[in-house]
Amino acid sequence: MSPSIQLQTCLALADVNDELGKRVKEALDVIDSALDTYGEEKISLSFNGGKDCTVLLHLYAAALYRWRTRHEVEGNGSPHIPTIYIAPPSPFSELEDFIAESVEKYGLQLYRITGTMKNALEEYKNTFPAVEAIFVGIRKGDPHAERLSYMNETDGDWPRFMRIHPVLYWSYADVWAFLRRLEVPYCVLYDVGYTSLGSTYNTHPNPALRRSPATTHEDEHGLTNLNRPAHPHTHPNFIAFTPSQTPDLSTLAHLYLPAYELEDESLERAGRGPAT
Ligand code: ATP
Repeated sequence: MSPSIQLQTCLALADVNDELGKRVKEALDVIDSALDTYGEEKISLSFNGGKDCTVLLHLYAAALYRWRTRHEVEGNGSPHIPTIYIAPPSPFSELEDFIAESVEKYGLQLYRITGTMKNALEEYKNTFPAVEAIFVGIRKGDPHAERLSYMNETDGDWPRFMRIHPVLYWSYADVWAFLRRLEVPYCVLYDVGYTSLGSTYNTHPNPALRRSPATTHEDEHGLTNLNRPAHPHTHPNFIAFTPSQTPDLSTLAHLYLPAYELEDESLERAGRGPAT
């Protein structure tokens, strides 16, 4: 399917009269309103390769395609989306590979930063002073999301940005229905039991997706090595990816169901340890 047809299929979903259609319409409305308020030059996307921002990226690419067509902006086939990625201390190589593929597929102008969220946003503000608003793929069930609405300005001594949350009211099931119905590519780790992705230090396959009672000895299957050691990072900004170990995805696929099989949404983060 050509990229523009894929985006039109996404836009058409907003007219479908079901739960997912309603969610898509609501998210596209929030994105359209942000585009009308700020214009695309003042908007950036926060993207770390996770499932929620993968949904958001696809929605944004579709909305931007339509907005550019309506406003007769040239180059509506290649979105060129300013994007911020704050890399964790020891990222999964599969996630970095997926981010690199997304850069290609969606024309992301990716700015890759390490360090704390606050320092990263400060650096982003200094480097791109024109950016006033950032799309964030947070959902109501996520930590610290209870009091958020579609748009919230950063407060306190955080760098000033309007945070925009088009998928705020999406459920875990909505996310998977969208990715699967539209055949949007997502990170391979979600096919082998991971349901939410942090760094290799703090993220395991979700125990709720274990296929059968443990008839397997964990050590024989390398499960004790799932938290792989960090690899050295020396990266400038702008798309620098370091090679790292390949995980044994086929072993994991034998042991764990894919993320979309998780029934109890409250267990979405059961494979996540404390943030590092
Ligand atoms: P998952 O929960 O499966 O890892 P996700 O990363 O998309 O998916 P969250 O971890 O809940 O979702 O994060 C919410 C949103 O915050 C992301 O969708 C993304 O927009 C933004 N975000 C979180 N961490 C980062 C990061 N390190 N760099 C850039 N954006 C981020």
